[in-house]
Amino acid sequence: MELSIVVPIYNEEETIPHLHARVSDALVGSGIDYELILVDDGSSDGSFALLREIAQQDRRVKVIRFRRNFGQTAAMAAGFDAARGRVIVPMDGDLQNDPADIPMLLATIDEGYDVVSGWRKDRQDTFVNRRLPSIIANALISRMTGVHLHDYGCTLKAYRREVLDGVNLYGEMHRFVPALASQVGARVTEIPVRHHARLYGTSKYGISRTMRVVLDLMTVKFLLTYSTKPIQLFGKWGIYTILAGFLTGGLTLSMKLFEGMSMNRNPLLILTAFLLFGGVQFIALGLLGEVNARTYHESQGKPIYVVREKINLDER
Ligand code: UDP
Ligand code: MG
Repeated sequence: MELSIVVPIYNEEETIPHLHARVSDALVGSGIDYELILVDDGSSDGSFALLREIAQQDRRVKVIRFRRNFGQTAAMAAGFDAARGRVIVPMDGDLQNDPADIPMLLATIDEGYDVVSGWRKDRQDTFVNRRLPSIIANALISRMTGVHLHDYGCTLKAYRREVLDGVNLYGEMHRFVPALASQVGARVTEIPVRHHARLYGTSKYGISRTMRVVLDLMTVKFLLTYSTKPIQLFGKWGIYTILAGFLTGGLTLSMKLFEGMSMNRNPLLILTAFLLFGGVQFIALGLLGEVNARTYHESQGKPIYVVREKINLDER
């Protein structure tokens, strides 16, 4: 199969019939062999009944229903796991993304990319609680991950399926897939896609999403840079902190010896204690991290490198 479209659905009953029609319009005549995987993320409205009805009429439609609401990232992960296509395209279920862009994404994959990310160049969302936080988040993510895209939050993307096989999703991580994929050597690019205002239903998120994205960014940054060498991060700060502790400790002592300032009246003594304790903690944390990193990689048989191809080396 050529293409799997994965759509998370949470209380989108008004949109579902239009969604199915628009996807069919965009792809049926194109000769692309596709499946449409709709993942019902524990909807409490009539979404599931509609999905079942559509799946009965159209064999290309496949439906997964969660027992409760697990969140958009989980719904997308379930769709990715079930997908059979050579290329996987996730998309929002509210038709803010346009299925008519899918053939263009596919064509770009065929130019030799592993990940093609949609860029909502003309984004139809409110400024204060959508576009502004997004501008800040995009700048941060771009800087911290070293993968430079304009729009990480756009759900409409295309992945070669091998790229997703090595990526596990947690939390709100679906927007970081290009960064995680580039870590395993994927070629990533971006193209502008259409974006529409939400016509039916309401958004499932508020401004609090920004906080969750920032926390996930910290996790991703840590995993990208230090997952195989945590002591390099924590140990470094541990050493700096201990050195600073020696410095303030030395100052306290010299103030006592040369200026007659009693040590227990000197606030620097408290700082010294904090710095020395803190430094030891940092180093201990780094060592624990090292143990965890080994457990993580070895228990999954996960190597610390990724191979693109091998020559004259058969499976051993
Ligand atoms: N969604 C989901 N589970 C959730 C929240 C959202 O599957 O817990 C789906 C939702 O149905 C939609 C997509 O994720 O298809 C994006 O959600 P939304 O349009 O509310 O986000 P926004 O466009 O406001 O960022
Ligand atoms: Mg939306």
